[in-house]
Amino acid sequence: MQQRGEEDRGFAFNALLVLHDTMTSKKHILPTALYIHIPFCAKKCNYCDFNSMVSESRVVDRYLHALSKELDTLASQYTFTTIYIGGGTPSLLSEIQLERLLRSVIRYNATSQTQEYTVEANPGTLTANKVRLLKEYTVNRISLGIQSFQDRQLQFLGRIHSGDDARNVFTLLRSAGFKNINIDLIFGCPEQTPDDWKKDLEIAIALNPEHISTYALTYEGETPLTRDLKNEVIRKLDEYTELEMYKTAIEYLTLNGYNHYEISNFAKSGYECSHNHVYWRNTSYVGVGAGAHSFIDGMRMSNEKDVFRYIHGMHENKEVKSFRECLPQDHFVSETVIMALRLRQGITNTDFYERFGSTIQDQFGDTISILRKAGLVSYDDERLKLTEKGLFVADTVMAEFIYI
Ligand code: SF4
Repeated sequence: MQQRGEEDRGFAFNALLVLHDTMTSKKHILPTALYIHIPFCAKKCNYCDFNSMVSESRVVDRYLHALSKELDTLASQYTFTTIYIGGGTPSLLSEIQLERLLRSVIRYNATSQTQEYTVEANPGTLTANKVRLLKEYTVNRISLGIQSFQDRQLQFLGRIHSGDDARNVFTLLRSAGFKNINIDLIFGCPEQTPDDWKKDLEIAIALNPEHISTYALTYEGETPLTRDLKNEVIRKLDEYTELEMYKTAIEYLTLNGYNHYEISNFAKSGYECSHNHVYWRNTSYVGVGAGAHSFIDGMRMSNEKDVFRYIHGMHENKEVKSFRECLPQDHFVSETVIMALRLRQGITNTDFYERFGSTIQDQFGDTISILRKAGLVSYDDERLKLTEKGLFVADTVMAEFIYI
C-alpha cells in the first residue's frame, strides 16, 4: 500500500482535476475515480437489494470480456487516482477470472498514478492465491464485507461466511502485506442486543483495521427480510436502540483512535477512503459494468442494469448507457451541499465559491439560519457542517437543502 500521510490526505480532500476551456471560460472537472462493478455473488444475502446475482461461470467469463471492452473504450481516456472494484462479490471470481480482470485494469490505466486501489472481498470467497494475485496486481486496499463476527447474526443476514472465516481472512491479508483494510459492519438487526453490537465492535477493534464502516440494517425493495417484515415474521429493532447502537459505535471507535470522518465511516489518520470522497464531494467519476453510474462534467449516466443486456450491448458494439441526464445547476448545487454534509468536516465557503461562484450563505441563507437556531448545523469560520445533534437526524437536515 502506498501509505498516504496527512499531506496526501489533504490532496485527496481538496484537489480537483480542473481544465479551463479558454473559448467558453467553462470549468471542466475531469474524473479521477474509476468504479468497476462485478455483479455476481455466491448467494443473495437476505437484506440485499444491490445489483448482483448468482450466475454460472461462463456468464462471468462473458461479462469480464464485455467489461474489458468498456474499459478499453471509456476508461482509457482518463488518469485515475483511485480505482474501486466493487459488487457484488469481486472475490467470487475464480483465480483465472480475477487475474483477467486485474490485468485488464492494469493494462488500461496508469496505475502508477493510482494512489488508492480497492477491491471488495467476502471472507467466504477469498483464498490465499487470490490474495497473492491482488497483491501482485498492485491492489493496495481491501474492503471486507464482514458485517458481524457472530454466526447467529451472519445466518440471519444470509451471509455465506462465519465469524471465524472473517478473522482468518483478515489475518491472511495482513500476512500477505495488506496495510490498508476496511471492515464493513451492520447493526440494528432484530434481536441484536446492544451487547452483541459492542462485542462486534470490540472484535473489530482488536483486529486493528485501518478503516471501519458501520451501517444500520435497512429493509429495501423485495428482499427476503422485507418480506418477513411485511408478513410480521420479524420485527424491526426499535429506533431508540438503533440510535444507541450508532452512538456506541461513535464512542468506542473514536476512543480507540478512529476518526469519525463521515456519517458511517471511521478511519485511522491518513486512511480515510479517497475514492468515496469523490462521491461525497460530488465531483466526477467513471463507472463501468452493468448498472454502473458515471458523473462527468455535469452529466449523470448509468449503464444498462441487466447483466445479459449489458453483455449483449458491449458484444454488438451498441450503446450500453440506459440513462443520461445533464444535471441542472440548482440541483447540482443542492446535491453538493447534501453530500458534503455527510462529511463531519462539512463544506467550506471557499470550496463552494470556487465551484459555483457564489457563497453557501447566498444560496441557502434562510435554511442555514433556521437549522442553526435549531442547533442542527454550525456555520462557523465559513464552514457549514452538521452538529452532533444534527448528525442523529442527518436525513431530516439534508432534506432541507433539496432543491424544489
Ligand atoms: S455479498 Fe454483498 S452484494 Fe452479494 S448478495 Fe450479499 S450483500 Fe448483496
